[in-house]
Amino acid sequence: MYPADVADDLVEVLLTEEQIQARIAEMCREIERDYAGENLLLVGVLKGAVMVMADLARELSLPVEMDWMAVSSYGTSTRSSGVVRIQKDLDTALHGRKVLIVEDIIDSGLTLSWLLENLRSRGPESVEVCALLRKPEAARIDVDVRYVGFEIPNAFVVGYGLDYAERYRNLRGLGILSPSVYEHEDD
Ligand code: 5GP
Ligand code: MG
Ligand code: MG
Repeated sequence: MYPADVADDLVEVLLTEEQIQARIAEMCREIERDYAGENLLLVGVLKGAVMVMADLARELSLPVEMDWMAVSSYGTSTRSSGVVRIQKDLDTALHGRKVLIVEDIIDSGLTLSWLLENLRSRGPESVEVCALLRKPEAARIDVDVRYVGFEIPNAFVVGYGLDYAERYRNLRGLGILSPSVYEHEDD
């Protein structure tokens, strides 16, 4: 499935390319039902959501626009604090728009709840969330995520947009990263 050097870095493949694409198609049918006749603005959160945005947008048979935000969340490398700074804002005005935030993964949910509040303050008609992946901890925060692709275990995953030190984003599937990769961090 992956080049040998990458396969060695993964403990296991959690989701194959086929599983991801099949689930995205199902989510798109739901979104099409919910937004029939509407002009939807998809807001992707850089950089992790690039792959899911590209596949979701092309699978949807609705008129959609795409825009992007980049945010940084202060905290350690593995835990976000909920203190967020906008690094790249939207080019699009949200007033009166139907907005769907497209996210790769929700872990603590802190980044997302900040983002929801921020976008809702701009006067959109509605803001909903579509996330490909959700970890168990997200259940502790009160954020209503309308579309979730997969509930995954509490492990550090890479691939399909998700990185470790900017690597592995280009894997077509999703895998659990081997701890041996972190152990070599200081080499
Ligand atoms: P939250 O505020 O929900 O804790 O942070 C979500 C962000 O943390 C994601 O957008 C992603 O950048 C990062 N993140 C959370 N869990 C993982 C993971 O398992 N793998 C990777 N590569 N990034 C993760
Ligand atoms: Mg993200
Ligand atoms: Mg990252």
